[in-house]
Amino acid sequence: MSLDVFPILCNAGFMNNYAYLLIETQSRKTAIVDASEAGPIIKACVYHHVEPEYILVTHHHDDHTGANAELKAKYNLKIVAPEAEKELIEGADILLKDGDIFDFGKTSAEIISAAGHTRGHILWYFKKDKALFTGDVLFNLSIGGLFEGTPKQMWNTLEKIKALPDDVRFYCGHEYTAFGLSGLPDNDAGAEYFNLVKPLIEKSYPTVGMSLGLEKKCNPYLRVSSLEEFENLF
Ligand code: ZN
Ligand code: FE
Repeated sequence: MSLDVFPILCNAGFMNNYAYLLIETQSRKTAIVDASEAGPIIKACVYHHVEPEYILVTHHHDDHTGANAELKAKYNLKIVAPEAEKELIEGADILLKDGDIFDFGKTSAEIISAAGHTRGHILWYFKKDKALFTGDVLFNLSIGGLFEGTPKQMWNTLEKIKALPDDVRFYCGHEYTAFGLSGLPDNDAGAEYFNLVKPLIEKSYPTVGMSLGLEKKCNPYLRVSSLEEFENLF
């Protein structure tokens, strides 16, 4: 594993966004996923003695891009954003689309288009490191709202996520896990999920980094097996 992932809670007590500090351990290259709020991100960079070279954007919403301008000015970094949302993301320097590979030190990320929450939303998939950044598409035990998409588009996006290996860990854009606990299935997988996240929620620690395998068994939006069943959830 050459990628360290540090969740940074932003807009705490309000939107409860996650930005992520990524450090590629061999090259010490550093990036931020979704620059939500400058203060907590700068603090994390100071703590880890790093200066980010990139902001990796999942989608254009303000709660995921609000600190882009301030961090770009402070660190002289490059903003890497979905091509389909270039008009909506100010200061984007590098534009990527489905299937593109973003090289990051000794590792790299594959871009997966993920329409549903927004039209041009992308997922950042660090295949070698088994890490997936899902923005506002997939949360622990829920999914993002359909602001610019249809249930069918979101279904197609979730099918792509379901096809990824079970041992991939996913990192989402908000801490919403507590809201989904009541929907856990009444079985061994549900109990396992509960026992993993309950102590974290009680201490207000991040619950992100869940394995896709367990998420597929427990998230009501991933458990349905047809588009019809999925549409009935809305
Ligand atoms: Zn959003
Ligand atoms: Fe959001």
